[in-house]
Amino acid sequence: MDGLTARRFGLSSLLDRGAVEAAQMASLREAVARARERSPWYRERLAGVEPDALRSRADLPRLPLMSGADVAAHGQRMVCVPQGEVARIVTLQTSGSTGTPKRLHFTRDDLAGTMDFFLHGMLSLADPSDRVLVLLPFEQPDSTGDLLIRALSGGGVRSAGLWPPAKREELAGLVRGFTCVVGLPQHLLALAEVLPFGVVRTMLLCSDYAPPALRRRIEEACGCETFLHYGTTETGLGGGVECAAHDGCHLRESDLLLEIVDPESGEPLPEGEAGEVVVTTLGRQAMPLLRYRTGDMARLTAQPCVCGGVTARLYDIAGRRRACILRGGFRVTSQELDDMMFGVDGLLDYRAALDMDGGRDRLGIEFLAGQGHESLERRMEQALRRVPGVAAALDIGTLALGPMRRVQAFSPSHTVKRTIFDQRGSTS
Ligand SMILES: [Zn+2]
Repeated sequence: MDGLTARRFGLSSLLDRGAVEAAQMASLREAVARARERSPWYRERLAGVEPDALRSRADLPRLPLMSGADVAAHGQRMVCVPQGEVARIVTLQTSGSTGTPKRLHFTRDDLAGTMDFFLHGMLSLADPSDRVLVLLPFEQPDSTGDLLIRALSGGGVRSAGLWPPAKREELAGLVRGFTCVVGLPQHLLALAEVLPFGVVRTMLLCSDYAPPALRRRIEEACGCETFLHYGTTETGLGGGVECAAHDGCHLRESDLLLEIVDPESGEPLPEGEAGEVVVTTLGRQAMPLLRYRTGDMARLTAQPCVCGGVTARLYDIAGRRRACILRGGFRVTSQELDDMMFGVDGLLDYRAALDMDGGRDRLGIEFLAGQGHESLERRMEQALRRVPGVAAALDIGTLALGPMRRVQAFSPSHTVKRTIFDQRGSTS
């Protein structure tokens, strides 16, 4: 990431932290001035902000925070280019009460920046001797998989897409000849369990959250080295990727400025503390985002990495902040469930749903199990009881564990932005 960041900023390739941060602030001043000039929403919103006053990271709170609700409500007024220059619009459903989707706009240049990152990020785990299998949607032009395949091709790395991922029994045959695989953690786990040991060298896990237990099982099952990617549509699909030191995702700092803030107060937190990830896009043409609250929890460090890189790293990425509140006031996040559930050997994927039964909450599980693991119910129940909020609610009797039902398959996209499906409202 250092090389990419230096080149895109026009800096010498021997980066130092001061130069990166100075270049980021210069880029931010331009982004703020441009947004005020071209977007009616930012013009009003940033009326009191003088771009030249933004000299260091300490000045960032001069810019107000923005949220997904702002993008859903005012996205069209954030667009800074004529409609004819918009190359792609990504529509994201929101979980908010209005249900208005977010529409993120990108120009051809914005997408080229993403591809530049994709290629250089992949060089952490693949080289031209590899063949890369992309288990992501790729058929639509400029979809994530399509951008990745084209980026790799531009760098001389052979690759192919497969979506939706085939049935597990067929996968092992389909992936013959590939030495690197990119996909969602649950799909890579299912694949790892049917692969011959040692054939696939590396895997890239794309998701906002990859449970450590799941990652360990992938590596043990097929002998590959796993790498994490952090990125969302808002970060321009790509955001950061681990190096071989596996000590956080190196960020593409030429295009993104990240902060960690207190999720309650919105105040910036000291380096290394866990909080909400706030993203500012630098150089994004179609629809810049300035101090956008992602809802993801993580830590950030700008200390040099053992790989020698100085680009900042995001680590302890814990995914969505939103918790499900159980009767009795106990909080449970889908990440806490994932951490325990993916420790269950043989469990490939699951879906948790909450409903009501006789005045109590009821937590039911649908699950996908590997061959030879026909009855996982008892171990899944033990795993659920290790989640503090679940254990507390079970103890006082306001929660019961519901049916655990084995399924043959899930929709390929159901794991993206996992949540606990809360169906309690619809039954009362
Ligand atoms: Zn590193």
